[in-house]
Amino acid sequence: MKVVLDHLTKKFPNRNKKIKEDVIAVNDFTFEIPDGKLVGLLGPSGCGKSTTLNLISGLEKPTSGKVYFGETDVTELPPENRGVGLVFQNYALYPHLTVRQNIIFPLENLKGDQKLTKQEMNDRALEAARMVQIHELMDRKPNELSGGQQQRVAIARALVKMPGILLLDEPLSNLDARLRLQTREELRRIQTSTGITTVFVTHDQEEAMSISDMIVVMKDGVIHQIGKPQQVYDDPVNLFVAKFLGTPPINVFAARVEKEKLYIGEEAVLDVHGVADGPVTAGIRPEGFLLSKDGEFTCEPSSLEVMGRDTSIVSTHSACEAPAIRSIVIAGEEEVKLLDEIFDGVRPAPESKGKLKFHLRPGKVHLFDVSTGDRIRFS
Ligand code: ADP
Ligand code: MG
Repeated sequence: MKVVLDHLTKKFPNRNKKIKEDVIAVNDFTFEIPDGKLVGLLGPSGCGKSTTLNLISGLEKPTSGKVYFGETDVTELPPENRGVGLVFQNYALYPHLTVRQNIIFPLENLKGDQKLTKQEMNDRALEAARMVQIHELMDRKPNELSGGQQQRVAIARALVKMPGILLLDEPLSNLDARLRLQTREELRRIQTSTGITTVFVTHDQEEAMSISDMIVVMKDGVIHQIGKPQQVYDDPVNLFVAKFLGTPPINVFAARVEKEKLYIGEEAVLDVHGVADGPVTAGIRPEGFLLSKDGEFTCEPSSLEVMGRDTSIVSTHSACEAPAIRSIVIAGEEEVKLLDEIFDGVRPAPESKGKLKFHLRPGKVHLFDVSTGDRIRFS
């Protein structure tokens, strides 16, 4: 079932009583979550992700605007009548109930023609448990389970009602790194196989990028960009989005344009047709640096980080906003030779000064307005 948010706004009285103005947790949200897709709501802490989810589930009422499930206006419908499954960061299982009883719980209060027999409830619980592969743990209590298993019980409990929409609020935050990776793949598998329209909230860009059909990047209650993960990464609308996506993050420089050339420091590093003269903020993705002995852009080498498959060069430049520039290089034959000249192991060789030179890949360089942060396009 598709979900439509139509000019949705939620204001709260400020928690800090001294501040009279309301907090606008969600500011005029309009977007459509397509049927059967997984949408990642992504943004820093406090940007309004949970509030958005709560508006979809009905736990919060909007100050203005509407929520539609399919063609039906559900804005006034209480949460229990919306047919949504919810999973929170703190999975809150009932400690005195077994896994089976925890999963069955949401089915026990179904009324009227939705009412199920004991057998039907058991069957449904087992089916949900199978989906998340905890069906062999049905008689255990939560304290006999690992964190990952507990979170799967919570997911099974959300799935058991066969919801039309699944809402997940930072569901993996309490898991350790390896389990987080495994559970997110599992979530994706369940989502694709059931085709449940899903909204997945996270502040972790990598998590959102890796499992979402579409991401919504937000900040301070405002949507900045909506799109497929790769598209948003490749074509950010502003500096905030560019910085929020990607590890290592985009490298940001104070730069200027003169006669359609981009200058960083005294070096003309790239042709930028169609951009007016003046200062700009330049962002260069780590994969936008091509190591070359006749590169236009010179940086000071600091160290090499070998990360298995890739090699990351850490360097510095006085125009860079951050203390370190990170560039990922493909270590081909020529590059390895150059790196050997510049680095003595992981540290720069004493005579390496001024040798770290890069060509820049135009598609990996983005320009932004110095004051607004809006993207400035060039060809
Ligand atoms: P996120 O989930 O992205 O971290 P939230 O949706 O929880 O963000 O919060 C968005 C903003 O709304 C924050 O500034 C938060 O302090 C505020 N907020 C959320 N819930 C309430 C509430 N019940 N009362 C007052 N302010 C709230
Ligand atoms: Mg939250």
